[in-house]
Amino acid sequence: MLVLMNVNATEEQTQTVCKRVEEMGYRPHPLPGATRCAIGITGNKGAVEADALSQLPGVAEVIAVSKPYKLVSRDMKAEDTIVRFEAGDAAVGGTELALMAGPCSVESRDQLFRIAEAVANSGARFLRGGAFKPRTSPYAFQGMGEEGLAIMAAAREAFGLLVVTEAVDHESLALVDQYADMIQIGARNMQNFALLKLAGRAHKPVLLKRGMAATLDELLMAAEYIMSEGNYNVVLCERGIRTFADHTRNTLDVGIVPAVKKLTHLPIVVDPSHASGKRDKVVPLARAAVAVGADGLIVEVHCDPDHALSDGAQSLYPAQFDSMVRNLSGIAELVGRTMYEPHSKTAGAEVAQ
Ligand code: PEP
Ligand code: MN
Repeated sequence: MLVLMNVNATEEQTQTVCKRVEEMGYRPHPLPGATRCAIGITGNKGAVEADALSQLPGVAEVIAVSKPYKLVSRDMKAEDTIVRFEAGDAAVGGTELALMAGPCSVESRDQLFRIAEAVANSGARFLRGGAFKPRTSPYAFQGMGEEGLAIMAAAREAFGLLVVTEAVDHESLALVDQYADMIQIGARNMQNFALLKLAGRAHKPVLLKRGMAATLDELLMAAEYIMSEGNYNVVLCERGIRTFADHTRNTLDVGIVPAVKKLTHLPIVVDPSHASGKRDKVVPLARAAVAVGADGLIVEVHCDPDHALSDGAQSLYPAQFDSMVRNLSGIAELVGRTMYEPHSKTAGAEVAQ
């Protein structure tokens, strides 16, 4: 059920509706839109007594939502959600293409700082890097843990980047919430409902990666889990799915981007690195992602990929990342997106004039 407030409804009227919903034993989710506020109702087993709400002052309409997901749906909020961050002016879902880049895993301070400096100079606004790694083999590198998070936080200060890093369980989620700017929920955890609920109670925006065999509905329901707990800042991520194709690690489902745009107001970024598993495929897939309307990219970059502790084969060299970003600007412009100009380049350009 969804309560649509009048365009000129007051904050007080919205609060009164929320209070009434609580009295009925349900949970209200007020989501302000560009012109008016919508209040999603969750926690109801059957139909909500619509009459009790439709008579309240400021209420325009009470609508039954037929889809299983409510808060993520465009019915709830027609306009695109722009996920913003406490620090800085970078966002995901606005006109500017969000660029997230960094190694698969944080391996050392020196390794991360070298990569962070390079990707920041190329125009990335977000630094990715795992401190807690969900690995297929229990004998593979599992990540540096809290020490890795501290290194990422130091790199944020040094290069002005926002940090996005994965949480794999309750303990790591609390730490990631403390150190990072954005909590990544990995593909293998997309249906870890206990973890999704915790992410919904965390303070930072969430990057939710699509499970490797998840349908669009399942991805949206996973996002609904997070939002139903009160965290409305969710960014979806397409990272390739399992198919019979064996020429790449996964198959990038570019078609999910317009499908997501139709059903939900949440932004979606694309990860061409895990989608392909191979360095030479990353740039073409990144181009396709921008062309199809993705709100951003998350890309693995490493200065010495041959010796990377994880995912070296799919990591771009910093110079490749730099040229990829430059070459994306033409496609970005065609689809009405802008690209961030890093200060160092702008400053350099001014000096050169
Ligand atoms: C990662 O981003 O390094 C990662 C493990 O991604 P995914 O969960 O998509 O496999
Ligand atoms: Mn990886």
